[in-house]
Amino acid sequence: MSPKIAVVTGGNKGIGYAIVDKLCSVFDGLIYLTARNEQLGLQAVQQLESSNPNASKKVNFHQLDITSVESIHHLAEFIKRNHGGLDILINNAAIAFKTNDITPFGDQAEITAQTNFFGTVNVCNALFPLLRDHARVVNISSRAGMLDSIKNPEIRHNFISPTATIESLSDILNDFIKKAKQDSHQDDGYPNSAYGMSKIALTAVTIIQQRIFDEKPNRDIVVNACCPGYINTDMTSNKGTGTPEQGADTPVYLATLEPHVKSPRGEFVAERKILKWKI
Ligand code: NDP
Repeated sequence: MSPKIAVVTGGNKGIGYAIVDKLCSVFDGLIYLTARNEQLGLQAVQQLESSNPNASKKVNFHQLDITSVESIHHLAEFIKRNHGGLDILINNAAIAFKTNDITPFGDQAEITAQTNFFGTVNVCNALFPLLRDHARVVNISSRAGMLDSIKNPEIRHNFISPTATIESLSDILNDFIKKAKQDSHQDDGYPNSAYGMSKIALTAVTIIQQRIFDEKPNRDIVVNACCPGYINTDMTSNKGTGTPEQGADTPVYLATLEPHVKSPRGEFVAERKILKWKI
């Protein structure tokens, strides 16, 4: 029988690395630690092999830059050719500009959305056709992207409307980028956070993805978004209060939800509990 397969994006450091480490203990299958930088990815695998006795049998490296359609395509083709399917996808890779970064806000909005939202959606589009029955997908979002940080009720509604689609969410994010470049995004009720907006869109897309999976309930494919907590990594300039291992707990819990789990499905989860994201 072919082994179960997991893919973790942005696995070379931080929470992604800790997720791969934890999966080695709880997941009976092969794990692809992916990274955009091949050298950093291979170093991370080596480091895991020296610290985790399960890693040498379970962890492989594959290059993946989530902003490159070509790189995504290579990974999808590789998984299809070598394994025929995928059981766990953890969309962890993301960027956040530092608060003192002098890049114009409009550019920050565009670059952040291209990675955290459009890049992740492209990974999903390429890998979802490979998902096997009972597959679990985790979109690592953030409490920095709660829906109520959008002050405009119409935009909020459009994000969570039952008729929302991935395309309609993309349109909202593109409108945010346009307004951010004109410095009028706050006049329209958008938050003044490029990272926050990208994560709002990621949590909203999770709801839509589950709605689509639920069209074939027998396949029992589940996707959830989560916040890992405020974690000590490069992203937080090591100011977080939790360790990467703690940050990996909820993502790995969601990635290993038992077959036919009723809840959580299409939810926003933190510390293993469903949060009211839509308020
Ligand atoms: P880090 O900055 O430590 O790690 C981010 C990872 O994403 C790195 O491996 C980075 O690679 C990778 N990455 C960035 N861009 C790309 C890309 N285009 N293609 C592939 N990989 C990429 O962040 P964290 O570990 O803290 O964050 C992990 C996840 O958790 C993110 O989604 C983040 O938004 C989320 N999160 C984190 C919180 C925290 O407190 N730390 C709080 C809430 C959410 P490289 O090394 O090459 O830059």
